Formats: sequence, C-alpha cells, structure tokens
Amino acid sequence: MYIISGCLLGHDCKYNGGNNRNEEVIKFCETHRHVVVCPERAGKLPTPRPPAERQGKRIVNIEGEDVTDAFMNGARSSLNTCLQLAEYAGEKLEGAILKAKSPSCGCGQIYDGTFTGTLTEGDGVFTEMLKKRGIQIITEKETIKW
Ligand code: SF4
Repeated sequence: MYIISGCLLGHDCKYNGGNNRNEEVIKFCETHRHVVVCPERAGKLPTPRPPAERQGKRIVNIEGEDVTDAFMNGARSSLNTCLQLAEYAGEKLEGAILKAKSPSCGCGQIYDGTFTGTLTEGDGVFTEMLKKRGIQIITEKETIKW
C-alpha cells in the first residue's frame, strides 16, 4: 500500500484552496492500492490558509503565527490512519509519493522559513515521521520507481 498526498490527486487541500494535480501520480494510483492523506487538513487547519514554512523545529505561517502544534497533530493523525488502513488490508506501507517542498510533505528540500521562495535541505514534518519508520519516499518531481 502506498501513501499519496491528496493535493497530487487533485484534492483542493492546498493552502490557497487549489491543488497540485499530477497525471503520473493519478495513473499510478489506478493500479496500486493507496491511502490518500493531507496532514494539514488532518491537523484541522482551514483551507484556504496562510502559507507556512519550517523554521527549524517550529512551523510558522506568513502572518507570524506559530502553527507547529496543528502541523504535528496532523502529521501524527495521518500516520496513524495509514498504519491502521495498512493493517486492516493486511499489507505493509511500501512507499509514499508526496508533494515536493511542503512543510508537511516535502522530501529533501523545503522552503527555508523566510517566505522568499528560497529552498534549503530538509523534510516536511509528516515526511520525517515516515522516514523514521523506514518508509521510502519520493516526490512528484521524481520518476515513480514502483
Ligand atoms: S502538500 Fe501535503 S499537507 Fe500540503 S496540501 Fe498537499 S497533501 Fe496537504
């Protein structure tokens, strides 16, 4: 079973109320069992919402509000959903295709917390949790390897 960021499937859960629909990811999901997540929505953040970026361990939105708790709660809740669904299906979580650069779903590179479009090395908080469990992660920018 694979974990997929909802915005890549066209769900309007992106901070600005839009999505990041990706045809390759949609095609992949037609033939692979998957669970769809949006950790920020799971954290009860509204849509639309002010954009947020990681500043080290904290996550702050562009209005200067600390939204770390909502992001962490949403990431934990999404992880639990994935684990429960996989267990119910009797499958393991084989990998994840997540949205690049997001403070929740980014992998390897994220925005640096200055709201200037500058990237830095790092992962989103949901991605970090998956990596700790040894789950392989790619973003929509990479060739799907499964
Ligand atoms: S990148 Fe992740 S948290 Fe952000 S909208 Fe997409 S699924 Fe939700």
